[in-house]
Parts: sequence; structure tokens; C-alpha cells
Amino acid sequence: MKERIYTIPVNDAFAKDCECALCELEEVTTRDLVNYYMGASMMESDVRVSTNEKGFCSRHLAAMYNLQENRLALGLMLHTHLDDVCKDIGHKLEKSAAPSVAGKIFAGKGDVRQGLVKLAERIEKRTESCALCERLEYTMDRYIDVILWQFFEESEFKRKFSESKGFCLPHTALLLRGCAKYLSASQASAFAKSLAGIQKTSLETMCKDIEWFTLKFDYRNQDKPWGNSKDAVPRTIRKLLGRTDLKQ
Ligand SMILES: [Zn+2]
Ligand SMILES: [Zn+2]
Repeated sequence: MKERIYTIPVNDAFAKDCECALCELEEVTTRDLVNYYMGASMMESDVRVSTNEKGFCSRHLAAMYNLQENRLALGLMLHTHLDDVCKDIGHKLEKSAAPSVAGKIFAGKGDVRQGLVKLAERIEKRTESCALCERLEYTMDRYIDVILWQFFEESEFKRKFSESKGFCLPHTALLLRGCAKYLSASQASAFAKSLAGIQKTSLETMCKDIEWFTLKFDYRNQDKPWGNSKDAVPRTIRKLLGRTDLKQ
């Protein structure tokens, strides 16, 4: 039996009538992690070592800010992270902009522009790293493992999986990667076959829905029913890219 802390959220997500159960799982996990980082954990030294070094991506930092609570915790975390950035980038920026002549000659560092590109890459790496993304990625990997295990071990789960509306494209790719990582070749093939069938139906249905959305703008179709097409634009965006912060 797989760990219940992972099987319960997986079963809850697959019980929902949604376009992608993994998007549901990701949303719930993200909400929990935002609350975790904005809660008492912010004071734990190992958490702070990680957030000082990695910081957060813009999406997750915005989610923390938009919670509109515990601004002190957020301020403390930002302060020590920024301090780390100052020591790292601030010092290197100064050095790269004006490398000493002696340093250039003896260390054989050559063109100043190479140093600037290197520093730009370092800055980009720092802005992309995110303590929350790393934990989210780990948890989603656990969920994928559980989904694949349940698919072969629990017939009721396999039925729910097969009757679902499929998955968004990023999570389809994640499932395929999980297949290659956790399953034998014959199991991977059986799972992928089932997934391919679900995705084919799901994408074709979505295609018809978005097409009917566009056809409804034709005056000849004005009085015809919308069917499932009224919200086809946001649903198509989510099917293509996963959960996005779209206004309703
Ligand atoms: Zn998804
Ligand atoms: Zn992030």
C-alpha cells in the first residue's frame, strides 16, 4: 500500500469533474506550500537556509504577497534572501564591470564581455530558482508514482482514471516521464495506451467546443444553443498550458 498522505489527495482530485486532475493536485499542493512558507516554518533555520539561497519565482512570490497576511514573515524572508543576493551578485557585478588589469592579464580572463554574459547567466539562474517550486516538483513526482501504482493495483482507480476528461499537455508530459521512470516496459506501454485513448477523446472534444465557440459569432448561429462552448476559451488555454491565473 502506498503512503496515505499521497493516495488521499490523488483520490480526491480524481473524484472531481475537471479537465485535469493533476492541475487540481498542483493547485491544492501549491496552496498548502504557500501557507507552509508563510507560517511558522519561516522561522525554522533549515527552511531559511533554503529560501535565502533559492528565493521564490515570481508566480509563487506573488501568491504569498497576495495572501495579504503575515507580511512580517514575508518581510523577514525577503530581507535575508536579498542580503544573500547583495553579497553574491552585488560584489560580482562590481568586479565584472571593471576587472583589474592585473587580474585580466594574469588570470587570462580575456574579453570583459565574456564576464558580463557569465554574470547575466548567474543572475538569471538566481531569479529562476524557487524553494517552493522544488518542493512542488518533489510532491508532484510522489503523486505520479502513486497514480501509476494505483492504476495497476486498484481496479476502481483505473476506472476513474479511464473515465476522466484527460490531462493538460504539461501534465500529460509529466505522466509520460513518470511512466518511463517508474514502470517496466510492458506496464509503460499499457498505461500509455490508456492515456493516449483518453487524451485523443479529450483533445477532440475540446477542439469541437472551441470551434463551436467561434461559429457562434456567425449571425446564423446566434439563436442556437452554446452547448459546452461558452467557457471554451479558458478551458482550451488550460488544456494547452495547465492551470493559469485566468480571470473568470
Ligand atoms: Zn494539468
Ligand atoms: Zn516557484
